[in-house]
Amino acid sequence: MKVLKFGGTSIANAANIKRVREIVSRAEADQLIVVVSAMGGITDLLLQMATLASRQNPEYRQLFKEIESRHLQCIRELLPIDRQSAVLSKIKSDLNILETLVEGACLIGEITPKLSDKIVSFGELFSSYIISEYFISEKLDACFKDSRELVTTNETYGKALVNFERTNANSQHYFAGETTHIIVLPGFVAASESGNSTTLGRGGSDYTASIVAGAMQAEELQIWTDVSGMYTANPKIVKQAMAIPHISYEEAMELSHFGAKVVYPPTIQPVLSRAIPIRIKNTFDPDAPGTYITRNKNGNGKTVRGISNVEQIALLSLEGPGMIGIPGISKRFFEVLSLAGISVVLITQASSEHSICVGISDAEAEYAAMVVNEAFAYEISMGKIKTVAAEKDLAIIALVGDNMKSHQGLSGRMFSALGKNNVNIRAIAQGASERNISAVINSEDVKKALNTLHEAFFEENIKQLNLFVMGVGNVGSKLLRQLRQQKKFLKDHMRLNLRVIGMSNSRTMIFDENGIPLSQWESLLSEGQQADKEAFFAKIKKLNYRNSILVDNTASPEIAATYAKYLNQSIAVVTCNKIACSSDFDNYRNLKELSREYQAPFLFETNVGAGLPIIDTLKNLIASGDKILKIQAVLSGSLNFIWNHFNDQTTFYEIVKKAQEEGYTEPDPKIDLSGIDVMRKILILARESGYQLNIEDIVNNSFLPEESLKTANITDFFASLKAHEPEFQSLYQSAIAAESKLKYVAEFSEGKARVGLQQIPKGHDFYSLEGSDNIVLFYTERYPNQPMIIKGAGAGAAVTASGIFADIIRIGNF
Ligand code: ADP
Ligand code: ASP
Ligand code: MG
Repeated sequence: MKVLKFGGTSIANAANIKRVREIVSRAEADQLIVVVSAMGGITDLLLQMATLASRQNPEYRQLFKEIESRHLQCIRELLPIDRQSAVLSKIKSDLNILETLVEGACLIGEITPKLSDKIVSFGELFSSYIISEYFISEKLDACFKDSRELVTTNETYGKALVNFERTNANSQHYFAGETTHIIVLPGFVAASESGNSTTLGRGGSDYTASIVAGAMQAEELQIWTDVSGMYTANPKIVKQAMAIPHISYEEAMELSHFGAKVVYPPTIQPVLSRAIPIRIKNTFDPDAPGTYITRNKNGNGKTVRGISNVEQIALLSLEGPGMIGIPGISKRFFEVLSLAGISVVLITQASSEHSICVGISDAEAEYAAMVVNEAFAYEISMGKIKTVAAEKDLAIIALVGDNMKSHQGLSGRMFSALGKNNVNIRAIAQGASERNISAVINSEDVKKALNTLHEAFFEENIKQLNLFVMGVGNVGSKLLRQLRQQKKFLKDHMRLNLRVIGMSNSRTMIFDENGIPLSQWESLLSEGQQADKEAFFAKIKKLNYRNSILVDNTASPEIAATYAKYLNQSIAVVTCNKIACSSDFDNYRNLKELSREYQAPFLFETNVGAGLPIIDTLKNLIASGDKILKIQAVLSGSLNFIWNHFNDQTTFYEIVKKAQEEGYTEPDPKIDLSGIDVMRKILILARESGYQLNIEDIVNNSFLPEESLKTANITDFFASLKAHEPEFQSLYQSAIAAESKLKYVAEFSEGKARVGLQQIPKGHDFYSLEGSDNIVLFYTERYPNQPMIIKGAGAGAAVTASGIFADIIRIGNF
């Protein structure tokens, strides 16, 4: 004998029930017990209808109609016409009874738990009867049996306790005389000894199946549902979750107790003692192996087998200075809760015994606080204990695994992964079985926390980075192209999964929680909502993804001003925008501190030398104990390009225009030509070398005529370059006369920085610096005479984009 249980989704409509028939007709066993839930959503509708009726709200009738029509339609779609009328008339007559009961509740304006169970039991009674009739019409050897005649309980309505002695006897007696091959039973419903309908608790159809399997010592219990087994985490929340092939009863129980609702927690008990295996299978993918649950299965060395979550939790803390002195305090605390019928999901006690903290269901929070405050009224009035208040909107997440006890460091890994993603932990508990470590967190963090832990424990190798890209101009668009091209490589070779979740330019912005398809971002973005940097931030915060990264490809001061907000939320910032790092020193320091405090990387390698690894090298030198003595550098790709191309055959204006067109200059070329851009860069290098400098401390010998410096817009600026051509020519001629080349040089030594145009003689490291290249010479304690030199392309959208890309990958390896 095998017991097969089909859940609500599996029998939600005629099409699904046809699948169920196929599964049942292929099952191999001498006898099959088929236990079914109510059709998907019907239990909720029945309960809502009853509640509305008890509030005398006439809208309950609409729900009644919906319940009626779903069943009648199902019968019409399943059964041949000649068999329909008998089944329709039976269901209609039951619907009449149901309607009378609900009308009664409406008239009195009240619903008792007893009546509620009576009403809600119709869901399973209807579905099982219809399915049995359908099986018969399909020529299967099937019959219907009312579980209320088998499963006997007490009268705790809503979640009745099973009398196993009676139930086992009833079942054995009935099945001994039952020769039909397939017996269809309603799950969830039972009856008390005096014959009243009771129910086994929400999700209880699983339990019915297990109770019967236990009573009959079935060879296997199969739970057919809408997912392919018990997963490493709820697959609706964690996309990367995987079905666990084989798991122990205890692990399954722990996972289900902590929220894996794929099996109702009490289900395990009746089959465990008889060692009846459970198989969890997917009605919509019957060939998938599913999950096999048996006695001790040591998970092939896997320590953590699954991660689960319970939502709608509240914390109740009993604390106060006088607690140590009060005898039997925890006994009294738990007694009060138990007498009030409040079940405790999690307990933590501080070792000082100064406080006991319990996790309970959110719905019972106020009531629980009230009964505890009543029970301890005396101690509270004496000031020994604080008035208890419940803290709501919390959730529990738990790591579960039989082998966890023999491994150190799991909780460290768990909490550091959560900490890095700014998940605030309110309480921690480790089950005495050491099969579980659980933490209480805010509800809004559940999705992020589950995904973070799943990544840390099950995807050891694949890390997902969630990018939010601001600015998709020259640099940004190149970055998006590189991301698209490298996606597969990064996944295969670096185990990084990069997704762009949001992007914005100055006009519009878009979001896609599954990642924006990078092949068509332009058209998608052009149809996006209106851009708004506050709304952009708010959305990222609300999405609350782990490993979130803001990528700023703009040159905007307004965007630079938002970094602190991001870092504060543990969102990393990668930027080629120099404004933040060259702003006031206190702001720079604050950003660096926030980055440390919230473990959110703040990377800006492209602020100096585009894609060249200048800042990273500097950091490595310092981290390894070296000290920077002097820096000499040509840091402006655009100025280098301009002075390399300018001669007596051209005009200065033309060359600047060309540099702008090739994407070497800042959007406003005056920022480059005035030397400001170079000042910002040397300032950043000095600061990264450990010096506290501000932009005003830097001496700038600008070559630009006063009038050009004073222009108010780009057009005027270009006009002034034309007007002052002779001055630029004379700079060029004097360099030629001195057999030198002109380079805009930045220097930092003895705590002082200066920038300016210099004639560089032949033989100097800077002399043959081509095109738009940059060069940096680091003189350090370890490199005092022969400096460490970094040289290469120092401007241009593609190299800048690749520098940003490198920063993103650094975060992936963080
Ligand atoms: P049924 O109606 O078949 O009884 P349930 O809705 O009660 O189905 O249980 C199946 C659901 O359990 C899945 O759709 C999934 O959303 C949820 N679930 C939560 N945690 C897990 C998990 N760890 N593995 C599988 N499913 C899970
Ligand atoms: N129909 C009941 C519920 O929705 C029992 C079940 O489906 O397991 O809770
Ligand atoms: Mg269920």
